[in-house]
Amino acid sequence: MSAVTSERREAVRTANIGISKHADIYDFPARVPFLCECGAICTGFVRTSNDTFKLVASQAGWYLSGDGHGHRVAVFTADGGRVLAAA
Ligand SMILES: [Zn+2]
Repeated sequence: MSAVTSERREAVRTANIGISKHADIYDFPARVPFLCECGAICTGFVRTSNDTFKLVASQAGWYLSGDGHGHRVAVFTADGGRVLAAA
């Protein structure tokens, strides 16, 4: 896997905010396929509710990690510490 960068992580967060806004516009009823925010060049998705994304995005230093890492959704701190995980 490629090196983790905060720039990549922030670019993916910006894209995920756009996905979240569109999920609100279209009242998306199911888990939303967000992009993995692990910070590496990663093609994984994080399928979770829009409310979960908004909670994570509201916390400084929290990021989503997803199916490319063996779980549907997990929340990590910027230094890699796991906050919450769900299979
Ligand atoms: Zn990833």
